[in-house]
Amino acid sequence: MTDGKGSRNDDAAARPALVTGGGSGIGRAVALRLAQDGHTVAVCGRSRAKLDAVAGEIAAAGGHAVAVILDVTDAVSVRAAVGRVRAAIGDPLLVVNNAGIAESRKFADITCDDWDATMAVNVTGPFLVTQACLPAMLAAGFGRVVNVGSTAAVQGFPYVAHYVASKHALLGMTRALALEVASKGVTVNCVCPGYVDTEMTARSIDAIAATTGRPAADARRSLESMSPQRRLISPTEVADAVANLCGEAARGINGQAIVINGG
Ligand code: NDP
Repeated sequence: MTDGKGSRNDDAAARPALVTGGGSGIGRAVALRLAQDGHTVAVCGRSRAKLDAVAGEIAAAGGHAVAVILDVTDAVSVRAAVGRVRAAIGDPLLVVNNAGIAESRKFADITCDDWDATMAVNVTGPFLVTQACLPAMLAAGFGRVVNVGSTAAVQGFPYVAHYVASKHALLGMTRALALEVASKGVTVNCVCPGYVDTEMTARSIDAIAATTGRPAADARRSLESMSPQRRLISPTEVADAVANLCGEAARGINGQAIVINGG
């Protein structure tokens, strides 16, 4: 968001931000964008090397970031990580629940372990992280929770019933919490991209190519053709939407599913 004076952010306040899954893909783009907007960013995830690399990119660009190890599925890890973030940069007032996993399976082949693992990362993770950060937002009278959903939060897709169920659940949590905190200066929203050009989509392309025997370029085109714009969304487009929701100007946008898929 521009203010006509060259700044990308109409929100003068620099705030502590926490981004899960910040070491790659959409999370990396969000971390870079929030830092560019002047916020101090805790880049969180499980892989130290990836987190350090993104925190290093932010520092090299003149921003402020810390890398914090966090497994969103583990309540103890989440509490410890949020404590480390608080000590390093202050209570996170911008929380982006981006960490997620997706594996395609025929419905009949989804195991209970597949189901539980998907729910643990995509639903329980955002629940735990948000619950750990919300009290400070309420105390500050300001907070932004942005959950990275998917078009799978608002419609069905074949061969990913567990993923679709998890993203619908995430949107349900978003809508319920948004109403709970509506009068407290805190907003809770979901961005819902179609296929984004990240490692996750590269793995989907490989899986389609392996199961159908088609060349990877064909598999990629089949994903591109799912958007009316016949293209993959870029991580920076998602990051821009997240950054806008984090600003003061978005205070009236609450409990929404912002679909980013070209129509
Ligand atoms: P990536 O696979 O590139 O990134 C996923 C990130 O989540 C990784 O950085 C990973 O880091 C982190 N992560 C996974 N499990 C955990 C965990 N238990 N605790 C903490 N972090 C974890 O995927 P994308 O960037 O593509 O996806 C990001 C989000 O966007 C996901 O929620 C996904 O569902 C959603 N999305 C993606 C789309 C796409 O087409 N790519 C489309 C729509 C939505 P590490 O392994 O180091 O922990």
